[in-house]
Amino acid sequence: MNFIPEELVVERGCESSVIFNNLRSTLPQVPVKLVDDVRLGAAGSDSANQFGAAKRKLYLTRHRGEFFKKCPGSEGQVCCNYFVINFASNCPMDCSYCYLQEYLADNASLKVFSNIGDLIDEADRTLRKHRGHFFRIGTGEITDSLALEPYTGIVRELIPYFAEQPNVLLELKTKSDCVDNLLDLDPKGRIVVAWSMNPQPVIDRDEHGTASFAERLLAARRCQQAGYRLGFHFDPMIEYPGWETDYQSMVAEIFASIDWRKVCWLSLGVLRETPGLKRVMRQRFPRTRLLAGEQVLCPDGKLRYFQPQRIRMYRKMVQWIRQSAPTVQIYLCMESKEIWQQVFGFAPACEKELGNRMAPVD
Ligand code: SF4
Repeated sequence: MNFIPEELVVERGCESSVIFNNLRSTLPQVPVKLVDDVRLGAAGSDSANQFGAAKRKLYLTRHRGEFFKKCPGSEGQVCCNYFVINFASNCPMDCSYCYLQEYLADNASLKVFSNIGDLIDEADRTLRKHRGHFFRIGTGEITDSLALEPYTGIVRELIPYFAEQPNVLLELKTKSDCVDNLLDLDPKGRIVVAWSMNPQPVIDRDEHGTASFAERLLAARRCQQAGYRLGFHFDPMIEYPGWETDYQSMVAEIFASIDWRKVCWLSLGVLRETPGLKRVMRQRFPRTRLLAGEQVLCPDGKLRYFQPQRIRMYRKMVQWIRQSAPTVQIYLCMESKEIWQQVFGFAPACEKELGNRMAPVD
């Protein structure tokens, strides 16, 4: 991980937290500024440059409000009944298609939350109250789950709690290879470490500051050897001349390196963005090739490749995956029932059905 923040901005009261101590011991060279309320000096990003600048300082603050939420999904698309807990906001990496550029435009500061005990208490109340319900919970909705882990140690605090819960899978989704903190813990089958994967040419062009494909795959192997379940997200899939060769070899390489029977799920999703995000991408990454292809505006307000093209891409990926991993669970992220039907020959009747398909078979 190459990211080193220029400054740690710490809200008074957070100095007694484990996370503060971890940050101080792992980043001793970084200056610390104590402030009364991080919201007063925190960055919005009314210009594209400010969004990039906001990633260079790291804020430590208390989270006010609820940690535990239902994934908002996307209107009219099949939802996979996913919950999210946010222990940080924004990301030190900088993918050109990242939706946070628009989603966090008014609140762009790179923040981690110090009150992890409150997060665990809140999760515990929900999980205990609904023991008959199986929860898939992710931590990578508005941040990368592991990119800051070498400094914060937050995930190290979460795993021992979630590993003991009978009705949960906690998914840690990343484009980093920061897994050292995980390897001596026992996940007890309850923790899924998942990588967003793209072929190296896509990483080189559009996933700035992330781990290479080989580094992600090696990290996945290490996690599998340490007893973790794995997930892979081929999302966003990008269409470009030669994409078939690159994606096919990527899939083959993954399944030559890891045991697919320990993979909980794979997701597929094509590049999608709102017109607003497209404007930001044009400003921040004018040389990206992602904006060159033709797209169509879908009912949820997002631009995607044309339907026949998406179906063609998904079918090919499913075929390549099935050659190596015949029964692994595959789902489509933010796609309509119609596309599901065309790709798999069925569409889940409801979000609960899809969520239950991904419950672990112990
Ligand atoms: S790794 Fe994820 S959260 Fe971070 S910049 Fe890339 S897309 Fe955004």
